[in-house]
Amino acid sequence: MSDALTSSTPGSPVHFEVSTNVPTTHGTFQMRAYRDLVTSAEHVAIIGTLPDGSLPSDGALVRVHSECLTGEAFGSLKCECGPQLDAALDTIAAEGGVVVYLRGQEGRGIGLINKLKAYRLQEDGLDTLDANLALGLPADSRAYGGAAGILADLGITRVRLLSNNPEKRRQLEEHGITVESLVPLVVGVSPQNAGYLDTKRDRMGHELPAHLEAGAGAAG
Ligand SMILES: [Zn+2]
Repeated sequence: MSDALTSSTPGSPVHFEVSTNVPTTHGTFQMRAYRDLVTSAEHVAIIGTLPDGSLPSDGALVRVHSECLTGEAFGSLKCECGPQLDAALDTIAAEGGVVVYLRGQEGRGIGLINKLKAYRLQEDGLDTLDANLALGLPADSRAYGGAAGILADLGITRVRLLSNNPEKRRQLEEHGITVESLVPLVVGVSPQNAGYLDTKRDRMGHELPAHLEAGAGAAG
């Protein structure tokens, strides 16, 4: 981590731009902003200090979270991104850790308009995976090189990952981050997204309970 106003480590996929403290309803966090040198997206590392006041380091609790406008800003019940983000921020406020918030990955990477087109197809009965495929789009095109670059900038090479998504684990490890464990983040199940979560479990390999009860949930 650098305290310089902006900095870039040679070979890093991200450029550090600024660090500032922001009070939120979850607690006060250090927010470090980065520019993704591959996609030009602006990402944020949201950092909660440990109970002893130290900054997260190796072995930290980390959530790598993709921006979801519909779920987080509009309260859409089609997915559980809003409750997941809230729970992750509450967790790092209490225990310390990092939420790496990746922008430019709406709808598992297909963009906002395509995501709403996929929702339209789901009204005709397609599930979340087949709707993407029907639009000629990948099931999940998110990339995590930027997240790995941000973690490297923070001096974190080993994480406990707040997720049930083995693909996210695989991609982070491919970029040199050791995932010591997947820590379940079970929130946000509703009648409107139970089918979506079933598809993530049964067709996309997410480690979720066999029977999802409304009021519980699962991390993407
Ligand atoms: Zn979402």
